[in-house]
Amino acid sequence: MFNTLSDRLSESFKSLRGKGKLSEADIDATAREIRLALLEADVALPVVKDFVGAVKERARGAEVSGALNPAQQVIKIVNEELITILGGETRRLRFAKNPPTVIMLAGLQGAGKTTLAAKLALWLKAQDKSPMLVAADLQRPNAVQQLQVNGERAGVTVFAPEPGNGVGDPVSVARAGVEEARRTLHDVVIIDTAGRLGIDEELMAQAAGIRDAVNPDEVLFVVDAMIGQDAVNTAQAFLDGVGYDGVVLTKLDGDARGGAALSIAKMTGKPVMFASNGEKLTDFDLFHPDRMASRILDMGDLLTLIEQAEKNFDADQAAKAAEKLQSGDFTLDDFLDQMQQVKKMGSLTKMLGMLPGMGQFREQLDNFDEREIDRIEAIIHSMTPGERANPKMIDGSRRSRIAKGSGRTVAEINQLVDRFFEARKMMQQMARGGGMPGMPGSPG
Ligand code: GDP
Repeated sequence: MFNTLSDRLSESFKSLRGKGKLSEADIDATAREIRLALLEADVALPVVKDFVGAVKERARGAEVSGALNPAQQVIKIVNEELITILGGETRRLRFAKNPPTVIMLAGLQGAGKTTLAAKLALWLKAQDKSPMLVAADLQRPNAVQQLQVNGERAGVTVFAPEPGNGVGDPVSVARAGVEEARRTLHDVVIIDTAGRLGIDEELMAQAAGIRDAVNPDEVLFVVDAMIGQDAVNTAQAFLDGVGYDGVVLTKLDGDARGGAALSIAKMTGKPVMFASNGEKLTDFDLFHPDRMASRILDMGDLLTLIEQAEKNFDADQAAKAAEKLQSGDFTLDDFLDQMQQVKKMGSLTKMLGMLPGMGQFREQLDNFDEREIDRIEAIIHSMTPGERANPKMIDGSRRSRIAKGSGRTVAEINQLVDRFFEARKMMQQMARGGGMPGMPGSPG
């Protein structure tokens, strides 16, 4: 979602390349570029002013450093200032000393609250919590049912008012939900509340009523990052009307300009705590200002990548594959194993996008079809064990048989086999310590 901003910022650093020293004119020109880049990304004007002011001042005072050239120095300053406006330190959830911890969600209709409730529950489950969802959105006709469906997908209990009991009162439902969680020993309660299409008094009053009734440990304001400048106004209205402890940005996968993400923490003084970037329940994580800044500056987000890899990586299998590579008997079966490991880590394009320097390959990434791996799987599954172990034996007639079996074309089979041999050769070179030829983003 920060693609345009990323591109514009890297453009603005270009003119500094090769300079031995920063002149006043260089600083001014770069500051102007950064200012435009931020404004175009829909960042709120007061935030832009402060940001550019801080960067300018620090660039002027920058010591001539032996380690960094002027362009790198400015990037370092911009990175640090980005982290600051994004909220500084990662803010984590505070759990109550006496469970259950009560988390209340507030925000406009369509912000993604119901989806988020389930995402948050799943995320908490992975940390050995036993969350319960409470359906206190009694405004939107399908909200209760939608929460139940999402809760089921996340494998968590949903507390909802009995159907047929009239409309019901959201405050009582919320209160009863917390009681139920206490009784059934759930240690976190997530309360979904009603939203409206726009800000209105009644909505605020209802949310404030729920807040007073259940005394939440955390009130989270959920906002759609795609609504641009409006996100900041809505955030302010909810801050005045309901109050909250942290912000959750949703739909960061969209192609909006990202200004909301960059303005909200600074404008409201409340930290962004979570980010949601897709419709799948797992498209959700803590918001790390430092990692987000790195992504914006196309310095990559290796920490998130490493965390995802660690969660899913099978070290034994990797060691075996490495051994096979060195001894030269890496087969198509091993190739398939590796591919499946990568698939377990999640979306390949999202993962590749976290590597430093990938900005320049964005178009290829956007065009990459995730189903490619499924096609490769189908092809390899149509081979005999002998063929997988010894791909050299896959001649023309075998290729047409495999094509028929997998429903792919012979050209695709040829391509896969060629690619396998190429990959094997490259990996063998790397295993011998040759390094990665032509890898983008490597220092040099
Ligand atoms: P609520 O009215 O605040 O409860 O919003 P919902 O949870 O019903 O979400 C509204 C729509 O946004 C649904 O179609 C969701 O699938 C979608 N949505 C929610 N979060 C995200 C996200 O992070 N990315 C994308 N692309 N869509 C999302």
